[in-house]
Amino acid sequence: MIRFEHVTKRYADGTTAVDDLSFEVAEGELVTLVGPSGCGKTTTMKMVNRLIEPTEGRILLAGEDISAIDPVQLRRRIGYVIQQVGLFPHRTVLDNTATVPALLGVPRARARARAAELLDLVGLDPKTYGSRYPEQLSGGQRQRVGVARALAADPPVLLMDEPFGAVDPVVREHLQNEFLRLQSQVRKTVLLVTHDLEEAVRLGDRIAVYGQGTIEQFDTPARVLGAPATPYVADFVGADRGLKRLSVTAVDASALEDVPVLRTDEATPSAPAPTSAPPTSTAPASDAPWSVVLDADGRVQGWVAAEEPGRTRPAPEPVPLGASLREALAALLQHDTGWLPVVDPAEGGRYAGVLTPAAVHRALRAASPEPTESTAVTEQPAKSLSPR
Ligand code: ADP
Ligand code: MG
Repeated sequence: MIRFEHVTKRYADGTTAVDDLSFEVAEGELVTLVGPSGCGKTTTMKMVNRLIEPTEGRILLAGEDISAIDPVQLRRRIGYVIQQVGLFPHRTVLDNTATVPALLGVPRARARARAAELLDLVGLDPKTYGSRYPEQLSGGQRQRVGVARALAADPPVLLMDEPFGAVDPVVREHLQNEFLRLQSQVRKTVLLVTHDLEEAVRLGDRIAVYGQGTIEQFDTPARVLGAPATPYVADFVGADRGLKRLSVTAVDASALEDVPVLRTDEATPSAPAPTSAPPTSTAPASDAPWSVVLDADGRVQGWVAAEEPGRTRPAPEPVPLGASLREALAALLQHDTGWLPVVDPAEGGRYAGVLTPAAVHRALRAASPEPTESTAVTEQPAKSLSPR
């Protein structure tokens, strides 16, 4: 959807802000650009809507060279959200949100109705907030209006430059989560600039880690954290990257422990549930110290210890497959059992296996792939987006 081909930007004073940059963002993908101040992130972004012109190379939008598109026309296809928001102080929230459609000649009543929908979408009740002026909002609320306004013309592409930078950490996390929810509905192609690695990891389908005007690694959050392509990236993501990886690695069926299961409709422990992976232990099931108890539909009822087979004890609250290891580990640490049942939401919550600290470790190791490519143009756009 957005393709950079050997793009260089040198400013008049000789500063090379961006140096021979090539990358591609797939349709519906959210790519975060992360790196220290002055590394060329904003320059990269502003070249996409022609606020800045490249010195060399070209940028394609949906296959079209943007240098051939009239900048005004181009910007109608690209929503732009900046940290300072840039709301008109003398216009109401509703009119601010309706700015672009109104400019595009959408009748006023329709533009305002659409604006009200969008305010609702970003979590601002239009009845309460629509008639307010920007100064009557908190920083976080202003930021949401900025996002609503950028979405108002329904552009396929969104550029966001430090969009949540001006608010405190709690509000920030809240806005990030809301934005992810929003993005899962609107599925825009998004380039989002941040200097904050946590934000880049949390929001990005893929991350471009910037050095000085170049991309050091362009990859999924799990790969950037799990297999930094260069010493620079390893240093940037930090020594605690293993902990950060817990947030971006999902609980996966193949990492789970197989423990014997007992059906409430059967008398004795049986082999592991038919849907689970091959047993890791070849010991006879009846020798196991404990078993998971399932009902006839495969739902977790509890567990029994071998020495007290008659007593079903309550199992900890299950975690779903696909939850982050961070969430799962946090839940695991709250229980004395040392394990948690894992269920498959795609199978109506059927039992899928048992998560233990060893399984967390296995899942992290398994998700530690080689970097796909150090950086560079992906000749094929990424087809699949990581589910969230
Ligand atoms: P970032 O957004 O990553 O902080 P920028 O893209 O804003 O970085 O800037 C990249 C480099 O280009 C910096 O060294 C900055 O000082 C320089 N720069 C940015 N804008 C201009 C300009 N208009 N003229 C000269 N140098 C600039
Ligand atoms: Mg910047």
